This record gives sequence, structure tokens and C-alpha cells, in this order.
Amino acid sequence: MNIGILGAGQLSRMLAIAGIPMGFNFIFYSPSDQNCVKNLGKVINKSYDDQEAVIEFASLCDVITYENENIPYETAVLIESLKPLYPSANTLLNTQDRLLEKQLFHSLNIPTVPFKCVDNYQDLFDFVEEYDFPVIIKKRTQGYDGKGQIKIISNKDLVKLEGEMLCNLIVEKMVNFEREISIIGTKSLNGEIAYYDICENKHINGVLHRTCNKIKDPIFENAKIYLNKVFEHFNYVGCLAFEFFQCKGMIYANELAPRVHNTGHWTIEGTFCSQFENHIRAIVGLPLGNTESLANFEMENFIGRLPLLNEIFNLKDTYFHDYQKEPKPGRKLGHISRKIGYSL
Ligand code: AMP
Repeated sequence: MNIGILGAGQLSRMLAIAGIPMGFNFIFYSPSDQNCVKNLGKVINKSYDDQEAVIEFASLCDVITYENENIPYETAVLIESLKPLYPSANTLLNTQDRLLEKQLFHSLNIPTVPFKCVDNYQDLFDFVEEYDFPVIIKKRTQGYDGKGQIKIISNKDLVKLEGEMLCNLIVEKMVNFEREISIIGTKSLNGEIAYYDICENKHINGVLHRTCNKIKDPIFENAKIYLNKVFEHFNYVGCLAFEFFQCKGMIYANELAPRVHNTGHWTIEGTFCSQFENHIRAIVGLPLGNTESLANFEMENFIGRLPLLNEIFNLKDTYFHDYQKEPKPGRKLGHISRKIGYSL
């Protein structure tokens, strides 16, 4: 069976590494000439608006998925008219725009921090009048890893933005959270659902640095309820990650990722069946694998540079993943996961 993946970054790489031993072939479609999937399958290096190339790609695949939510909606619709696409184009549309996503949370009765659509300075000013500082503005679309975000802490920050082109943004009240968490679940074509343990996440400047799994976390049941609402709403198939802020025992939805997620990398070694394998199982309609944590695990991203191999391989119970990318400041190049108790 041929599985198509839109994108050829590290998530596509890890999906293919999980799927190849199960006997699947992979075909990647990516507009970027840099890729992390060399030797893992055929790569079609064309832009997403090249309809002919997209049709050719779809003709080679039995089922298609994606590694990020910034695929143009029109491309997803075209693909869906040709071959099964999981998660659906409609899921993509609603998760690639922060405003639509937050409105969805409201319609599903999932709590969020206060937010508002911003299309001019007055919108922002009014929000600050109502909720006070600090607030954060974010691009509605195409923002990731903290890109396209500005924190507004004081009046001085606010007035600097007067006269700036402010449109297609959302503003949110900044919360003083106790922790950031995510839950990852997988729903299969045949309706089966499996959940991984809660992930507790540390971001620096909007970028994920570390994640630990939290076995039997008190927030698990609550997070599962919210994840299920989204599964149901979209008639979802595949892995879904849901990020939250936790404040005073409450969790507030931050964002969804309709795909495998960086906070789930520990599942490769920390569970019997990783998020990557379960995503593949889900989209081809196989039974899902066991998601129970095998131990307390910690995952750490390497951003901008990789450590020396000796440093890593001297550590006990540590697994290393090199994404085979050109080093660049701010770029995620690899990660380690390890049983908690050892440190670099
Ligand atoms: P996002 O791209 O929305 O996930 O934002 C990246 C990171 O910025 C989050 O993981 C948080 O650490 C921080 N952040 C975003 N929105 C808020 C908020 N409303 N309050 C506090 N911190 C936030």
C-alpha cells in the first residue's frame, strides 16, 4: 500500500520510519527542496498550487495524510476529491486559522482564555481596555513556534503599534499558567480511539524545548473529554494533539494540531505503539496499538545545533534522533528521549 504525505520534514520522516517495517511505501510531496526523508520513499518537489503535480501525486497514493496544518485548503480539497485524505480538508481549514479554531472551542463548550479578532488598532485598544495588560497578538494563519506573535505588556508596547498595519490577527489575554500540557489521541477509520498520557511541556520564546509524560495525571480525564468533542465534531481520523494552559486546576484550550506532534515524540520509545505508528494504523483502518506509557520519559529538542554523539551515547537509557537537517539558528534538528533520572 502506498501512503502519501504532504510535507517532508521530521514528522514525515518519523511517520515513514514507523510505517516502513509494517510494509507500507511512502511518497512525499513537498514544496521545499530541503527534506528529512532521503531514502525513505519517492519525493515530489513541487509547489502546492501545481495542480498537475498534485494530481500525479494523488494518483500514486492509496491514502494521503499531512505533517502540518499549513497546507493550502484548496490543495487539500483537490486531493480529497481524488483519494482518501485524513484528517479531512475541513479539519485543516478549521485548525489553520486561530480565530476559527477558538470559535470552534466556544461552540463545543471548551474553555479558552479571552480572545478577539483584530483588524485594526482600535480592536486591540478596546480589548486591552476590557481585559488589561498583558496581552499577546498572534497571526491568525501561518504562525508556528511563536512566530508572528507579539507580547504587549504595557501601554508603551501598545502605543508603538499605533499606525502599524494590524489585520488578520487575534489578541488573547496572557495567562500566568502553572503549566502547559497537551494530550494526544488517535482515532481510527473504524472509530477506535486510543489516548497517550498527558504531556507536560516547557516552551522557551514560543518554541517547545522539553516534554515529560505524566502518568495518571489528574487532568487526563478532563483533557480526554475535550479531545473527544473535537474527534466527534470532525468525524476525525488520525492523530490529534490538543494543547492547553493549566491555571488553578482549570484547563484552557490553546490550540489543536491535526497531526502527529512534537510533544508526542517520547511515545516512540516510551510506549509500545508510538503516535507515528498509530497514525498510520488509523488512516489505513488497522486496529490501534497499546498507548500505555512504559516508564516516565522526558524528551528534549535540539534547536540550532546538535550535541556531540559522544555526549549522548555516554548516557544510559537515552535514545537519539537526528532529523538530517542543515543546522540553522532556531531550527529543530533532532531530539533525545530518555527515562527520567538521567541528565545531559
Ligand atoms: P502558540 O503558538 O499559541 O502555542 O504560542 C506559543 C507559546 O507562547 C505557548 O506555548 C505559550 O508558552 C505562549 N503563549 C501563547 N499564548 C499565550 C497566552 N494567551 N498566555 C500565556 N502564554 C501564551
